[in-house]
Amino acid sequence: MTGFRVGRNSRRRGRRAPGVYRKLILLIVCISVLPTVVLLVISYFQAIAYTRTNLESIVKKATEETDKLLKDADTILHRSNVDLQNADSKTSVNILQRQIYTDFRFREAGIITSEGYLTLSSLGIIDPPIPISFSPKAGFNPNEPDLQVLGSGRSQVMREESIALALKGDENIGGLYLLVDPVVLTYFLEAIPNLDLGPDGYIAFMTSNDRLLSSIGASPQNIFASLQNPSSHALRSIRTTDDKKITIVGEVRRQWALRYWLRELSISAPLTVIISGLLSYFFIRQVHQSNSLDYELKLGLAQNEFEIHYQPIIDLETRRCIGSEALLRWRHPQRGLIYPGLFIPIAEQTGFILSLTEWLIQKVIQDQTVLQTRFPDLYTSVNLSPTQLNTGNIERLVQTLNTAVEQPEQFSEQSNVRITFEITENKIVEAQEQVVQDSIARLKLWGTRFAIDDFGTGYSNISYLQRLDVDQLKLDQLFIRGLERDTNTAQLVDSLIDFGNRMGLTLIAEGIETENQYEYLRARGVQYGQGWLFSRALPLEEFERFLDSQNT
Ligand code: C2E
Ligand code: MG
Ligand code: MG
Repeated sequence: MTGFRVGRNSRRRGRRAPGVYRKLILLIVCISVLPTVVLLVISYFQAIAYTRTNLESIVKKATEETDKLLKDADTILHRSNVDLQNADSKTSVNILQRQIYTDFRFREAGIITSEGYLTLSSLGIIDPPIPISFSPKAGFNPNEPDLQVLGSGRSQVMREESIALALKGDENIGGLYLLVDPVVLTYFLEAIPNLDLGPDGYIAFMTSNDRLLSSIGASPQNIFASLQNPSSHALRSIRTTDDKKITIVGEVRRQWALRYWLRELSISAPLTVIISGLLSYFFIRQVHQSNSLDYELKLGLAQNEFEIHYQPIIDLETRRCIGSEALLRWRHPQRGLIYPGLFIPIAEQTGFILSLTEWLIQKVIQDQTVLQTRFPDLYTSVNLSPTQLNTGNIERLVQTLNTAVEQPEQFSEQSNVRITFEITENKIVEAQEQVVQDSIARLKLWGTRFAIDDFGTGYSNISYLQRLDVDQLKLDQLFIRGLERDTNTAQLVDSLIDFGNRMGLTLIAEGIETENQYEYLRARGVQYGQGWLFSRALPLEEFERFLDSQNT
């Protein structure tokens, strides 16, 4: 930025910038909080997505296993149906035993008569036959051709809770049934590593008429309650077997996902800390630099480190000095003389330019009184920061001028202030035309004049410039420098001069360094000029000597 170390300067002064640290702390908090909030939100959604995917894959696996079970049961029942035709009771028992002997999933296989009696099963002949007594007996339909899932219950023989799968038999067999241990449905789930559904989570196997066949996780009461009143705080996944006979429902509480959330955070938190740290570092450096420089500037003004150098403005016809441009210099105790290009942009950014300009105008008026007796007609050009006019924030300027004209001993002969305000062409905002116009009008009440500085370098709308009530155009030194180099620049200068003349404005050429440039401009009727050919910007005493030397 400015190339000089502001931190060291702060130490030299032995004081710290007030309010700097409060601002810094606030910034650091913002910088640290923002990535953390983003991280919290992202990792929360990641954790939810992870939990959902996990649940879906468990339910999918459960559905596949159940499909396999139903298909195998269907095969066994169909095969038994064929084998049992014309077999006597004893052989039938053997056939049924053989069918399920090697498959641990099936507890018992048996025959139901069309009247609903159990006559024999893989456990032996039931004599006399007994009515089937597992609870969904009414659910068995002897006319349904496909496999039927009858829900869980107990057979007369096998007294343990079982799921009954039944198939309509042919000819003299009313139907066949298979009893499945309910645990079989959830058995494979036990093998899933880290299966943890949380306090209220569950995987439930339901018949198409909402009977609970088997489940893991929450209690059956809670499962029914949750199925009847689905909660928005739960993540749910539902699938049905291919034959639509069994539905598998998986559910976990959203809060349960927080577990993964914490895990995500433990991975990404260090990254966020690094990002926040880096951001904080850059912000601190930035804020520290501009705050310190701002503070340095304020301190510099308080400790009288600013100076004004006056660059003579010459009447090109008579080659006599008719005024000067006041240019700021900062005599820094460590760095020596600092030119405005280094500190004016910061002063404009922080608003300190207002105080600086106020000080400058007061000093210019003071210096004018020193020169007034011997050089009464000198005008001084003062550069205005564009923000001062664009925002209409000219109260302090008005007050400064007021104070100046209210000192009759200094301005006894005229109530006018002999100041020309320079405003840089490319920095006046056209959108605020009315504000700029009003500001100019107010400041002109004190007899001040206005000049467009660096004219020709901006892209201002010509008609906009015409509407502004200005008195002078200052041709930028860029064009003057190019005069001897190429004819294009010379043509451009000619057209700028032409434009100024047509608008009835006084022309001042900046940066005249050679006699050729001077002659060229004079020959084309440019009234005034400034540049190293005549003089550099000088401290007051030297400027006074320069004026004296002209008189002699
Ligand atoms: P500017 O208003 O266009 O001032 C003219 C600049 O050209 C001055 O530079 C001056 O020293 C330089 N200059 C004059 N004659 C010649 C020459 O023959 N050859 C060359 N190469 N340069 C010449 P300086 O003093 O460094 O000022 C730079 C700019 O800083 C000024 O440009 C002005 O925009 C700004 N500035 C200076 N003082 C103030 C101030 O008090 N307030 C504000 N807002 N801006 C200021
Ligand atoms: Mg200027
Ligand atoms: Mg200029």
